[in-house]
Amino acid sequence: MLKGKSALVTGSTSGIGLGIARALAAQGCNVMLNGLGDPLQIEKNRISLENEFGIAARYHGADMSCPEEITSLLEATATVFGGVDVLVNSAGIQHTAPVETFPPERWDTIIAINLSSSFHTIHGVVPYMRSKQWGRIINIASVHGLVASVNKAAYVSAKHGLVGLTKVVGLETAGSGITCNAICPGWTRTELIEPQIIARAKALGVEIEEGGRNLLAEKQPSQQFVSIEQLGQLAVFLCSTAAEQITGTALPIDGGWTAQ
Ligand code: NAD
Repeated sequence: MLKGKSALVTGSTSGIGLGIARALAAQGCNVMLNGLGDPLQIEKNRISLENEFGIAARYHGADMSCPEEITSLLEATATVFGGVDVLVNSAGIQHTAPVETFPPERWDTIIAINLSSSFHTIHGVVPYMRSKQWGRIINIASVHGLVASVNKAAYVSAKHGLVGLTKVVGLETAGSGITCNAICPGWTRTELIEPQIIARAKALGVEIEEGGRNLLAEKQPSQQFVSIEQLGQLAVFLCSTAAEQITGTALPIDGGWTAQ
């Protein structure tokens, strides 16, 4: 479905971003990977995308908290692939603490990575998408773009901001062949939430798996984690012609979390 097109997936060295990169590659899309991590593992992931799906995959290690590095990521993608047809903003971090003890420097970093980086990538790719009269922008927000939880001031603020940015870009590009949507996952088992599972297990004095079940029981009525594959397939659907009138939305995929 996406043969000949190119995707930039930020934060795709692990978790949801890597899963979406794989799902897009499976549709024939070339992929620019980005994120932090072990260079050997990243190279292994890159090569396996090329071998499994017969597409071209590249990697750029831009720190998404830094606008200059984002510019260089966009330039590198344009040089290799001509431009970005599918932009997936998935880079993100978490820090949990009550607002009165929340470290201000963590606030700044979370806003930079989880919110501002998406402005910079969108700002950079929309002119190319307009020239092609086609584009897909998928922002990985969160249920925390729609509702709040305690101890997540920066994360919830950034994700609500990202949902707002999604609406504005959806409106500004409406009818141009470009769509911009936010995916709002509930609990998904990745490195990002592992510290929260461990902390919960420790607080309850139980095994890690029980800590995970306890987190789910509190918020996610299905009592099941969202899978990375399900998120990959939702992203693929948003790239399809069936989804061309879906824009400016925030789509929960959360086992019922935000229905409560
Ligand atoms: P993850 O930790 O596996 O992935 C985060 C990715 O972001 C990694 O590739 C990491 O290297 C990258 N990253 C972090 N800081 C970066 C930086 N400064 N520059 C470039 N890349 C950076 O976690 P995940 O759960 O896959 O998170 C992906 C997105 O999904 C995040 O935006 C997160 O907020 C969102 N999300 C996750 C969940 C969940 O339950 N896991 C739920 C809702 C939303």
